[in-house]
Amino acid sequence: MTAFWTEADFDDHELVQLVRDRRSGLTAIIALHSTHLGPAAGGTRFWHYADAGEAMRDALRLSRGMSYKNAMAGLPMGGGKAVILAGEDKAKTPDMLAAFGDAVEALGGRYVTAEDVGIGESDMVAVSQRTDYVSGLPVSGEGAAGGDPGPFTAMGIYHGIKAAVRYKLGKDSVEGVHVAIQGTGSVGGGVARLLAKDGARLTLSDINQARAAELAEELGAQTAAPDAIMGVACDVFSPNALGAILDEDGIARLDTPIVAGGANNQLACAHHGRMLAERGILYAPDYVINAGGIISVTLEYLARRNGTPSDINEVRKRIARIPERLEEVWRKSDESGQSPDVVADRMAQELIGRG
Ligand code: NAD
Repeated sequence: MTAFWTEADFDDHELVQLVRDRRSGLTAIIALHSTHLGPAAGGTRFWHYADAGEAMRDALRLSRGMSYKNAMAGLPMGGGKAVILAGEDKAKTPDMLAAFGDAVEALGGRYVTAEDVGIGESDMVAVSQRTDYVSGLPVSGEGAAGGDPGPFTAMGIYHGIKAAVRYKLGKDSVEGVHVAIQGTGSVGGGVARLLAKDGARLTLSDINQARAAELAEELGAQTAAPDAIMGVACDVFSPNALGAILDEDGIARLDTPIVAGGANNQLACAHHGRMLAERGILYAPDYVINAGGIISVTLEYLARRNGTPSDINEVRKRIARIPERLEEVWRKSDESGQSPDVVADRMAQELIGRG
């Protein structure tokens, strides 16, 4: 038997808990990486994994990523993540969500959950019947922050792309700047719409080709096939679909001076950040640029706990500061000769008391 704490992805996680509920059939892992800055915050993923080891690796990796993301976004939250191991049929029942809510409640506020892949707003509403340590719930009232984090993540990516264009290309506007977007879902679609308003030239791609084509039609953009998007000659490549796309092959195909997008865990391995830098490509570390959603979700949560109204303007203000963090990373990278991903990791580790 191999113990999970001997896994390469184990990083002195404070708590890793297996949750089993025989009645509902729930199997989940809750991983709390760090609570140094506050309760561990991070979404719940509902996914059919090929094996249990893969689920554990996901929980370990994603929870550490949340520690870094929350710290770099200046939030008073630590990092955690939950994965629910879905069966092959991906059946998700109310009983499972209730049992999961009980498990979150039992942690007494050390972990605060929200949506992630496979878990939507209505699922979080179900979980919230059993615990208050939940965010990403629907909000009502004009000017209230919260709900689906996708549009807020998109807003942060948009600001980050503009910052990268300013830093690398010396341009104050994205008008006429060619951005190739991989994935036109909640995040990629939002990024495309915001950039289109500023007159950027867009090439869109999605494995759901009808989805990309429809958005391209709406925005007057071009489309590219899913296997061609990474090779499109452009000013910015924006990955907003899958992780681990920046591997040897992917990086070799890139024809862009900038990579800036929302997908989590874009670098297949740690050394791929250096490869990008060696090719002269400016990289926006994923967890720094894609923090818009967690900023919204966290402010929503804190407001609810304090009994104060959540303020969308405060969310917008904080998201608009993502470029400052990115510029700090890029400046330090230029000064030290270390790639931006390494610089960002160091900054985050210092912030969570592990420097
Ligand atoms: P989504 O499911 O709404 O959209 C993803 C889109 O990518 C879908 O349209 C899908 O068809 C497409 N896609 C999948 N594989 C593809 C491929 N090989 N080539 C092109 N397109 C492909 O998901 P989302 O919420 O937009 O999230 C996108 C990425 O951003 C994910 O990596 C997610 O982890 C990350 N992210 C999302 C948020 C958020 O707030 N939603 C926050 C941080 C990070």
